[in-house]
Amino acid sequence: MALIVHKYGGTSVGTTERIQLVADRIVETKKQGHQIVVVVSAMSGETNRLLSLAKKITESPSPRELDVLLSTGEQVTIALLTMALEKKGCDAVSYTGGQVQIKTDSVHNKARINNIEVTRVQKELQEGKVVVVAGFQGVDENGNITTLGRGGSDTTAVAMATALNANECRIYTDVDGVYTADPSVVENAQRLSCLTYEEMLEMASLGSKVLQTRAVEFARKYNINLRVLSSFKEGSGTLITNEEENMEAALISGIAHNSDEAKLTVIGVPDKPGIASLILSPIAEANIEVDMIVQNVGLNNSTDFTFTVHRNDYEKAMSILKETAKIIDAADVMGDNKIVKISVVGVGMRSHAGVARTIFKALADEKINIQMISTSEIKVSVVVDEKHLESGVRILHMAFGLGKE
Ligand code: ADP
Ligand code: ASP
Ligand code: MG
Repeated sequence: MALIVHKYGGTSVGTTERIQLVADRIVETKKQGHQIVVVVSAMSGETNRLLSLAKKITESPSPRELDVLLSTGEQVTIALLTMALEKKGCDAVSYTGGQVQIKTDSVHNKARINNIEVTRVQKELQEGKVVVVAGFQGVDENGNITTLGRGGSDTTAVAMATALNANECRIYTDVDGVYTADPSVVENAQRLSCLTYEEMLEMASLGSKVLQTRAVEFARKYNINLRVLSSFKEGSGTLITNEEENMEAALISGIAHNSDEAKLTVIGVPDKPGIASLILSPIAEANIEVDMIVQNVGLNNSTDFTFTVHRNDYEKAMSILKETAKIIDAADVMGDNKIVKISVVGVGMRSHAGVARTIFKALADEKINIQMISTSEIKVSVVVDEKHLESGVRILHMAFGLGKE
């Protein structure tokens, strides 16, 4: 008998009909003699709906109350799915994150899981019940409800699998695996049958929302085999696992994109030591994460300094930067929140030169202007105008021959 964790995302539980289909799949797996823990997201669109309700009351809701609000989405789904299972004669019980004792730190809206108390869940499993757990939420040491950041139910699933020492963690979603690019952007993207943690981590952190980055980090740390599958059709999906010796490293595993960033530039900054720190410290103090940073070579003792932040933090970063500009005597501050970051990811890049050249040529041929570039051993990212999102992703996908014939 195996212990399997299933996770169903928003679209998979988007209607009561779909919840019944999920229940059928669980009953089927249970019949094979397995113990099952199910982690579910809120019904599709629900988290966004709750967010917009909060925004109608205030532009800046307190992070604690936002978590109280957002966690209700998942609570609806666990109850409905458990009812559906019971109706089908399958013994089941639902738990919120707080009830399972998914203990997190106190960073509201993007909390990290520290510990999970599994005794209660194990007891229910031994009694033959399916345990249905609310994704995306936990509780801090003072009993406050926390949430794990957008897409956080993936992380709940992997954390449950780790805590329970499960044999498998299956992430059921609206695509039948991880593709060489977002299949909603690139029609002829191909499903990857297998991917290493490292490749998936890079894809996720560069914007491939099919898995939350933290879920992949967790899986890598605790060696949990993750499989991404469709909840609508049969198939073997994509296995995310350790690199095996006989697994030939692909040059490029895929193209990721991120439309959640915005760019800020301080112009005419005095080119002297300490400037980067003067510009970025107040940004960090405001809890704003900075992604790409570019500083040009100075001319006439003056230079430009550009960086990107999450689009939600754009206005806040801009107002901080305007204050800093006065202090450091910079000429001007500029910003653009209509940009997109496109990244080419591949572990095989380590041993191959010329990837960057192919990218620049492909974009130039398409007359797409590159605004920023950043590289690491296994990825090259470029920032371009958001109007080039689809053409940029497609052209790079084609340039590396990733499409289906
Ligand atoms: P869920 O609600 O099940 O968690 P998400 O919307 O969070 O689903 O993630 C699935 C979506 O991720 C897909 O519909 C797809 O548009 C998007 N996606 C982005 N990049 C990729 C990729 N490389 N492979 C597969 N899906 C991707
Ligand atoms: N419901 C949350 C979200 O929409 C968590 C998740 O679906 O994973 O981000
Ligand atoms: Mg998701």
